[in-house]
Amino acid sequence: MLADAYAPLREIPDLDVIDGSQAGVFRIGEQRARLAVRPRTHAAAAAALRACAAAGLHVVPYGGGTAQTLGHPPFRIDVVLALDLLRGIHAYDPHDLTLSVEAGTTLAELAQTLARAGQHLPLDGAQPARATVGGLLATGHAGWRAGTYGRPRDLLIGLRTALTDGSQALSGGMVVKNVTGYDLGKLHAGALGTLGVILRANFKVMPLAPARRFVAAALPEGTRASVLTRIDTLILRPSAALVLRGWEGELPWKSGDEGSIAVMLEGAAGEIDRATRDLRSALGAAGIPGASIFDQARADDALAQLNDLWGSEIGGRSAAYCLRDDTTRLISWAAMLERIAVTEQMAVDFAADLLDGRLLVRLAAPTGHALRSSLPSCEEFIRKEAPGARLLHAPEWARREFPVWGGEPSAIARMREIKRAFDPAGTLNAGRYVGKI
Ligand SMILES: Cc1cc2nc3c(=O)[nH]c(=O)nc-3n(C[C@H](O)[C@H](O)[C@H](O)COP(=O)(O)OP(=O)(O)OC[C@H]3O[C@@H](n4cnc5c(N)ncnc54)[C@H](O)[C@@H]3O)c2cc1C
Repeated sequence: MLADAYAPLREIPDLDVIDGSQAGVFRIGEQRARLAVRPRTHAAAAAALRACAAAGLHVVPYGGGTAQTLGHPPFRIDVVLALDLLRGIHAYDPHDLTLSVEAGTTLAELAQTLARAGQHLPLDGAQPARATVGGLLATGHAGWRAGTYGRPRDLLIGLRTALTDGSQALSGGMVVKNVTGYDLGKLHAGALGTLGVILRANFKVMPLAPARRFVAAALPEGTRASVLTRIDTLILRPSAALVLRGWEGELPWKSGDEGSIAVMLEGAAGEIDRATRDLRSALGAAGIPGASIFDQARADDALAQLNDLWGSEIGGRSAAYCLRDDTTRLISWAAMLERIAVTEQMAVDFAADLLDGRLLVRLAAPTGHALRSSLPSCEEFIRKEAPGARLLHAPEWARREFPVWGGEPSAIARMREIKRAFDPAGTLNAGRYVGKI
């Protein structure tokens, strides 16, 4: 039966079909794909979706595979639709500060192209050498500069998507004011590929700051609270500012008894030097002796290492949550979770975003088995205190049982309606999204 269902896919021009063990390279959690297809054209992607929908096959869009453990596990995977052949810059006008890029392009390739023209697009996804533009848009993830530059959807000015009826939908364009009617492109941002497959995206890009500096300092006992109050007094607002604890061996600077503070500064060289002096005196006044300074490319690398924390799992024995709250409450949250974790014999790593009010917390148990017995009580505590918290990564059993997206939003019925309108056969990423849509 399945062989027949796959047969129409082999007839589609410009569609590479990979089956058997080779398809198994496309790993989604504990599940493996039976068959994978790699479209070389937008039309092939749309035709593949129509054929799969007609045959009742379940499809998982696949970018760089760096966030395929996000969400609930898919109900089943009949076909992986890999976008890596839809790659490259479609149009780019540095003078207009606009760009159109294929969805399978990696974040690193995009950054290199823009840097050559002294520009950038602050899509700070983790693992940029593998993560793709389409994957980042579909997850809606935003890195540690979101408090300054906004989320990927805020930088989006146009989108081309393939729908399960085989059509392609265009929204927006290459100029900001080109949007009449509903800005449907933004609907796909953060929809986890449940409504359509992103083929190409248009963005407004920005000039790269002439000077970039990353400052990190270890926090000795009793200094964390006072440094937090002083960060707010800086003349030049950092583009990212975090308090961290743990992440042993994952960050290029030392941590103190109370963790560390990390700040990204972007602007003109004179401004950066002035801000660094301010920051040093603020740290000094808070009792913090010294700081590590990273400039230009080294600053970008330090920020990239910070963004990699978002997808940083400890094989099968860790889970990570993202909580949102007022920045003043983030540290007390982290302290509460540290207390819980101690009673559950778990290690805690956290990163508190002082500009955007997000707390990333990773809980790790000595073994996968130990996690199975200790994580439920942490989940219970978090769910009670922060119902909207997202479970970013965890072993499959937890992502099957726990409400990984937080409590169901009041608009869930409307969301199910929209899903039915866009994907009546439930072809795309079935069961992975909010409410197991
Ligand atoms: C658990 C976890 C949490 C993360 N949290 C953050 C965060 O908060 N902030 C941050 O900056 N980075 C975060 N990241 C990293 C970031 O998600 C990735 O850098 C990037 O989003 C994934 O891109 P990818 O191409 O690897 O996508 P993949 O891993 O291949 O796919 C991710 C999801 O998007 C869907 N998808 C992929 N391509 C398309 C497409 N073209 N059209 C439609 N759907 C598609 C997939 O089906 C899948 O559901 C996280 C990573 C992980 C693993």
